[in-house]
Amino acid sequence: MSPSSRTSPAESAPALQQEIAQLAASPKVAAAMEWFREQEAQFTRWQLELARIPAPPFGEAARAAWMAAKFESLGLKQVHQDTIGNVLGLRTGAQDSAVSISAHLDTVFPAGSALNIRQQGPRLYGPGISDNAAGVTALLAIAAACQEFKIALELSLLFIGDVGEEGEGDLRGMRHIFLDSQWKDAIRASVVIDGAGTDTIVTEALGSRRFEIIIRGPGGHSWSDFGAPNPIVALAHAVHLFSQTRVAASPKTTFNVGVIEGGTSVNSIPESAKMRVDIRSASAMEIERLEMELRRAVEQAVEVEDAHSRRGNSTHAGLKAEIHAIGNRPAGELAPNARILQLARAVDAHLGNTARVQRASTDANIPLSLGREAIAIGAGGTGGGAHTLQEWFDVTGRELALKRILLIVLALAGTAPSGAEK
Ligand SMILES: [Zn+2]
Repeated sequence: MSPSSRTSPAESAPALQQEIAQLAASPKVAAAMEWFREQEAQFTRWQLELARIPAPPFGEAARAAWMAAKFESLGLKQVHQDTIGNVLGLRTGAQDSAVSISAHLDTVFPAGSALNIRQQGPRLYGPGISDNAAGVTALLAIAAACQEFKIALELSLLFIGDVGEEGEGDLRGMRHIFLDSQWKDAIRASVVIDGAGTDTIVTEALGSRRFEIIIRGPGGHSWSDFGAPNPIVALAHAVHLFSQTRVAASPKTTFNVGVIEGGTSVNSIPESAKMRVDIRSASAMEIERLEMELRRAVEQAVEVEDAHSRRGNSTHAGLKAEIHAIGNRPAGELAPNARILQLARAVDAHLGNTARVQRASTDANIPLSLGREAIAIGAGGTGGGAHTLQEWFDVTGRELALKRILLIVLALAGTAPSGAEK
């Protein structure tokens, strides 16, 4: 399968399915797909071992070191950690361009969380066991299959264990790969593995922006300084104004005031009050509009509270508002005729798998927002309780996802005639 056949958007579904059927029937690929089932005990061991290494936000180093050692042992080339902690390894193809396959290393669980990782039959339990120890395990399984069966490639396969996907990590690992790394222009398509399952293909990047807003004032005594502007009152007014913002059902757009803090005691006029706000939309323009609404609400609320305090003949200083961006995940979406989606569809048809196209916030946000071909898919099995201490993953049926991922990345990279591997 040559990557040169990649462009035509008019390529018919039957033609692509035939291409996938040929790929799946080629001896090495067919053997690799069978081999996945036999290797389940090994995959389970990797998954448990990995999940036992803490990887809190901004603390992925120990897990990254484990990952680099695994990449080395699976024969990947140029294994290294980049300047922000991503782990990279290469399965070299005939060409320098690459298809990236990535899984995030980090978890949402803060340092010191009890990681009671355990197994009961096919079920694995513990924080991060599915999101994203399952994804990382799939990445290793694909690298292992390429090594075991000496699968020769046209484009290189770039394996990435990336940092900073969750929460305030703000996709910094993938951002670095696509904006600042030596690979940024060489990656032709990206497959992101995140969480369990085989029933979705994420092609739309749900964008979000998060803000911390702090309103500060002179503060004072509730009796003797009465009339001084009150940051809590202004903040409450800002929440009220902003929460009346209209949002369309489509493209789905949401906002949330998630945290509010302020004040010191019941008889003090507070010196500050703050809130955290989350804005999400499939549309970058809607995110932009809501940010404007938020800024306007804060500005207006501060003006109103200052005006009240002046009417009380106050000589106090006025309020000041600060708006800090604490998160920015770009929105984007795959073109409907993108080859990566057509291939994923053809692979699903070949495997008899049903998947629906979905919008989510994943590492794929970064390439999708740059207009690059990318999807995010699951690592198979089933999982639940993501982002809780009760998280679980059931390995049953994992091999379906591994076959699916293998066929998609090999179809994207193109396989070279046997004997051509280097
Ligand atoms: Zn995840």
